[in-house]
Amino acid sequence: MAPPSGSRTVAHVEYFDDLDPACLRGHIEIEGHAFSKLWDICEARQLTVIADVHTHSGSSVQQSYIDRDNPMVARVEHVALIVPHLATRRVKPRHVGVHQYFGNGEWASWFGRNAARRLSIRRWA
Ligand SMILES: [Zn+2]
Repeated sequence: MAPPSGSRTVAHVEYFDDLDPACLRGHIEIEGHAFSKLWDICEARQLTVIADVHTHSGSSVQQSYIDRDNPMVARVEHVALIVPHLATRRVKPRHVGVHQYFGNGEWASWFGRNAARRLSIRRWA
């Protein structure tokens, strides 16, 4: 089945701590050199960063004020996904917080059924 029109598909994943081994400090703090690596990878593979994913320890998948004020990629339409329980449990799309950046600190967020309408999770073959 083809994805709906306007949808974007994840073709590659880069992990924050592969880009910056010192980034996990109880929170995620990525140094500029890591973004240089990321942009080089994207250029070599002719890819664009469309989303980032991080976890929260509890069940809340709402953005913290730090999440809202510091988009990983401050590009319009960038999507930030938040997975609950440190991703230690089986995750369904309705469990994920879907947050889309619109620039100037503006975000739209979807949860539950509305998040599931915007997120399809499949295994890679
Ligand atoms: Zn967060």
